[in-house]
Amino acid sequence: MKLALQSEMAITNDDVRQLDRSYVFHSWSMQGSLNPLVIAGAKGCELWDYDGNTYLDFSSQLVNVNIGYQHPRVLAAMKAQLEELTTIAPATANLARGEAAKRIVDLAPEGFSKVFFTNAGADANENAMRMARMYTGRDKIFSAYRSYHGNTGSAIVATGDSRRIPNEYARGHVHFFNPYLYRSEFNATTEEEECQRALAHLRRMIECEGPNSVAAILLESVPGTAGILVPPKGYMQGVRALADEFGIVLIVDEVMAGFGRTGSWFAFEQDGIVPDLITFAKGVNAGYVPAGGVIISGKISHYFDDHFFAGGLTYSGHPLAMSAIVATLDAMKEEKVVENAATVGDGVLRAGLTSLAQKHALIGDVRGRGMFQALELVTDRVAKTPVAAADMAAIKGALLQAGILPFIAENRIHVVPPCTMSAAEVQKGLAIFDAVLGQFGSLAK
Ligand code: PLP
Repeated sequence: MKLALQSEMAITNDDVRQLDRSYVFHSWSMQGSLNPLVIAGAKGCELWDYDGNTYLDFSSQLVNVNIGYQHPRVLAAMKAQLEELTTIAPATANLARGEAAKRIVDLAPEGFSKVFFTNAGADANENAMRMARMYTGRDKIFSAYRSYHGNTGSAIVATGDSRRIPNEYARGHVHFFNPYLYRSEFNATTEEEECQRALAHLRRMIECEGPNSVAAILLESVPGTAGILVPPKGYMQGVRALADEFGIVLIVDEVMAGFGRTGSWFAFEQDGIVPDLITFAKGVNAGYVPAGGVIISGKISHYFDDHFFAGGLTYSGHPLAMSAIVATLDAMKEEKVVENAATVGDGVLRAGLTSLAQKHALIGDVRGRGMFQALELVTDRVAKTPVAAADMAAIKGALLQAGILPFIAENRIHVVPPCTMSAAEVQKGLAIFDAVLGQFGSLAK
């Protein structure tokens, strides 16, 4: 334990990286070839390492640090909770838990009445699927190919992207194509066509699978990891109508898109729909302490008044996480963080990315809402050829070198800063994106 013993000596990035590589087994990785970024501390929208490098955050880590780092109000609430009570079982009534649930219900649409707390987004989806199956007495869960719902038993099977793990024990999962006009599965050329054809496809899938066997449609309001795929106008309303027609529970996954990210508290608000179950995690307390959950509509919640719900984990609704939720939501309201995501995100950030696309042929598509934007990089705008993985890795390296912490997914840069980022910080970041994309201009035809 070199680090523990050398407190009087300056710690370097190499010390920390060496310690990590000696003992830490990383998630989603091939262990042998890792060279993890070292971070020592952070405040607001800036992070730094032990060697004096700083980074402006355009990733929000895994798109969760919506209020930025070390928010003083959240830290104070967590410290107060630490002094009072550091752990208590889920079955007890606890002030912080009740306050957190009340605030979340107050933000949800009318008709939502209770919150079931989990440790993260994946188990929020696990439990929402279980609730839907129990409530309907049906088995199948429909979810989109372009989706990510978490890395646990059924959530990873519901996930549609290439990381999906086929699992013979997670029965009854059916996937469908969700809209993605830029690479349309339906040969659509307009939003309207994409919307209508995607809805017709979903209807046909439900009919073929047998509507009476479908418990739930599980859908991200704005699919995030899969590419920040803002649904075309009318799509979510169409899905809501199909769910109503066939008595299917609509679970909207707001784990990444929720709590301000898109410029509204929940992304589905902008589509004019009301789900039956809402899953959340990440932004609810900016990831300061692991937490997630399911917001349950009255009709489903009442069903469980006299039906036993078998679900929950030792740490569900942990008081420290709950105190962080209360303080995060209060700070977001008072500091108008959601409004900032809308004005700075849809205004300064989006406008800046759009003008970058006019300048750099490498950018094939710009899309998103609020502080949830994506650049899709292609070497040929007509053929839409994705930039190769090795080149994306080089672009990531150049952005880091220039002082930006980016979020890279396949051939895309997800431009997802904390929702608190100021217009000036966004402008500073855009100038760096501009310079780095310029360095790689020769990749484009
Ligand atoms: N759902 C969505 C939309 C997500 O983006 C994620 C994580 O990125 C999850 C679920 C899983 O959340 P967690 O990693 O907290 O389990």
